[in-house]
Amino acid sequence: MIRTATALLVLGLLVPLPARGQAAPGAGLAPGRMQALLTDVEADVMGRAKLVQVMVDKLFSFSELGFQEVETSRYVTGILRENGFRVEAGVSGIPTAWWATWGSGSPVIALGSDIDGIPRASQKPGVAYHDPLVEGAPGHGEGHNSGQAVNVAAALALKAVMEREGLPGTIVLWPGVAEELLGSKAWYVRDGRFRGIDAVLFTHVGSNLSVSWGQGNGTGLVSAEFTFAGEAAHSAGAPWRGRSALDAVELMNSGWNFRREHLRPQQRSHYTIVDGGDQPNVVPSSATVWYYVREIDQPLIASNFAALIRVAQGAALMTDTEMSYRIVGQAYPRHFNRPIAQAMYGHIRTVGLPRWTEADRTLARAVQREVGSAPIGLLDTLVALGPPPALPESGGSDDIGDISWAVPTVTLNFPSNIPDLPGHHWANAISMATPIAHKGALVGAQVVARTALELFARPDLVQEAWKYYREEQTVTHRYTPFIGPGDAPAVDKNRETMAQFRPLLEPFYFDETRFDTYLEQLGITYPTLGPAPTGSPTPR
Ligand SMILES: [Zn+2]
Repeated sequence: MIRTATALLVLGLLVPLPARGQAAPGAGLAPGRMQALLTDVEADVMGRAKLVQVMVDKLFSFSELGFQEVETSRYVTGILRENGFRVEAGVSGIPTAWWATWGSGSPVIALGSDIDGIPRASQKPGVAYHDPLVEGAPGHGEGHNSGQAVNVAAALALKAVMEREGLPGTIVLWPGVAEELLGSKAWYVRDGRFRGIDAVLFTHVGSNLSVSWGQGNGTGLVSAEFTFAGEAAHSAGAPWRGRSALDAVELMNSGWNFRREHLRPQQRSHYTIVDGGDQPNVVPSSATVWYYVREIDQPLIASNFAALIRVAQGAALMTDTEMSYRIVGQAYPRHFNRPIAQAMYGHIRTVGLPRWTEADRTLARAVQREVGSAPIGLLDTLVALGPPPALPESGGSDDIGDISWAVPTVTLNFPSNIPDLPGHHWANAISMATPIAHKGALVGAQVVARTALELFARPDLVQEAWKYYREEQTVTHRYTPFIGPGDAPAVDKNRETMAQFRPLLEPFYFDETRFDTYLEQLGITYPTLGPAPTGSPTPR
């Protein structure tokens, strides 16, 4: 067991301190007192295991897509209000976003986690094959139903200890709304939401308990919708009088698919046609294609995005249509804080991975077999906290990147999901309202509570975090967002889909007043392995 050695060196009494790491070094708790409080806050979190399970199950059952997290927002802010948090709703013009605060003075520690689901990922929990709750409906095929339980349990435990001890400081809780659309966090940063905040602990579901610092693997991105305006006509009677917006979309895609051969292999770009016209006998007068453009760093994203805009302009020229675009989302490449990551890693070592049961492992292996992965089950070994990769590999993005350039930030990955699944897929929802998710979220909450308490009690750690931010992270790169003051959040996204599916999902909302767990409410035996699926998903 390794405890954070530096914590033991801190001497002196706790004093209120100025904002953003300007406190005098050496202020803080006596070492023995610090260890006692860390043990206390962790024990308080473990006493909230029932709350964690109910929150994880409840958000799973809401199955809400980005910008439409109405029930999720109401439920989580309700718990926070009941517990004495001040809640500001609708921040940054996003109806489902909130800013919840408790306490006063410095330091100000903010906890964030995402809340949105994945289209068509509806899935019964604990069932090791594709079995949707509601056919075609959204579901938590990323596992974003678990992070609020982590943060709320940690925040309530911190509040209890801080109140009892008279520790100064402010806890802030905010949601990653529409993370799948990279749709909220850059807007929070643009609107100055992180001014005055000393550190951000972000949590994200994974299959291990881990933290990192520096720039890791993965990309940043800009997401934009390109809309072409043409002229309608009878497709058979007078096609020469029409100018097809759909032709422009197809030519743009064709142009980009040629262009992508001449881009760095690290780029990732993908699109869906969100409006392709209405019916074949009417020349489409309007059509829209939605792109994500990803690269390893901001200048490369900007360069590829500029090329994409030129391709769109070329398509408009070829079709005599008018092109316009709007930015729907952005995610900056992530850069995480070394001193906070090192402190958090000490707590990860102390807390450790959950104790998995044979039922948990059996489910995991069955799901892995179902999707063609090696049946390794669940993880029992922590990964080391190493230096960042010299050359980051390509991959996904997260708009926590934008926040990481505004304030010292780390992401804690906690083990509520099964390793090596496809991602953004119904299989990734299977564990997310089972004991795997509940136990993974609980250890996540223990680590967050311990790390946040250390930040509250150790002004020198906050100072070190800002020193890294100022003297290492931001020395060679200045944050240059894609969005400006005129870019509104895309709060219209997913409205129609949720209007269609919400009434079908409502009968399945978790009722914790009648059932102990969501598995019990659904009458699911844990784990459910059969019937054996017909045909193998693995190519032979
Ligand atoms: Zn995510």
